[in-house]
Amino acid sequence: MRDPFGRDITYLRVSVTDRCDFRCVYCMAEHMTFLPKAEVLSLEELDRLCSRFIAKGVAKLRLTGGEPLVRRDILWLFARLARHLESGALEELTLTTNGSQLGRFATDLVALGVKRINVSLDTLNPGRFRALTRWGDLNKVLAGVGAAQKAGLKIKINTVALKGVNEDEFDDLIRWCGAHGFDWTLIETMPLGDIDGDRTEQYLPLSLVRADLAKRWTLVDSDYRSGGPARYATIGETGQRLGFITPLTHNFCESCNRVRLTCTGTLYMCLGQEDAADLRTLLRAGDDDAALDAAIDEAIGRKPKGHDFIIDRRHNRPAVSRHMSVTGG
Ligand code: SAM
Repeated sequence: MRDPFGRDITYLRVSVTDRCDFRCVYCMAEHMTFLPKAEVLSLEELDRLCSRFIAKGVAKLRLTGGEPLVRRDILWLFARLARHLESGALEELTLTTNGSQLGRFATDLVALGVKRINVSLDTLNPGRFRALTRWGDLNKVLAGVGAAQKAGLKIKINTVALKGVNEDEFDDLIRWCGAHGFDWTLIETMPLGDIDGDRTEQYLPLSLVRADLAKRWTLVDSDYRSGGPARYATIGETGQRLGFITPLTHNFCESCNRVRLTCTGTLYMCLGQEDAADLRTLLRAGDDDAALDAAIDEAIGRKPKGHDFIIDRRHNRPAVSRHMSVTGG
């Protein structure tokens, strides 16, 4: 699949549920209305749709959410998708998780061919963790991360940089990731979906964070690219990789290789734009895979050149109205 700007689309991120067992303050409102079950694709439908994308050239598939590991019977989907790893059509099957359920699932995920995972973790302070996630238990997450490491999963930690909230912990996080052998990526807050608070107060430009970290750590620019929005450095003192995802201060669209599927079968060609294609209607209309393929091609043909996120200070409204838990982080 090649889009009109010559970018090969090889990476699909799939939100398998809009539900989550946390309510991170920058991601969701405390009282969220979740989708009725009938609107959400069944695991069989997700398998069929993902398999079409793989047949059309997707080599990397990431399950996300909401929290992917709270979707009932999610291992069934991993097991189905694993057949594409065995055939060689899929190079990587992975997930982004808040870590709360890893204690239960880590060993099975490894058995099904998952090799690397991203774990979202914004603080190592239990009280702060509870305040940020509203519902989360840091000890359970750390136990899950430990279980994942023991099971052999390679782990990358993702941290959303929040002004006045966790910026005093970045040195600790570098040391903790270094001690455990985890790569670490910092993410700027993105103006997605209504939350209860004011996002402009949480926004912390990573250019400032990087300049501050460079006073104490040796950051060596790295050529490593994941095809995604992150730019990487290596931390001399720990040897670990440090990524910066800066959607607001840096335009990363020219090398974008990804599209995103929601749990209702809506395909978003860009995280920062509203344009989307409904694939669920066709999916539920029958077993015509050729029609699905044609709809996917038509959508890829509309992939925009870039996003236009802005944090609108005057109106304090999100640039994109859907929450991250809909499109998947
Ligand atoms: N539940 C899983 C998790 O916690 O990783 C997967 C879904 S979560 C929406 C994916 C990532 O998006 C998390 O790292 C989360 O911190 C991040 N995220 C959510 N809302 C965001 C926002 N408005 N700006 C930046 N990152 C956000």
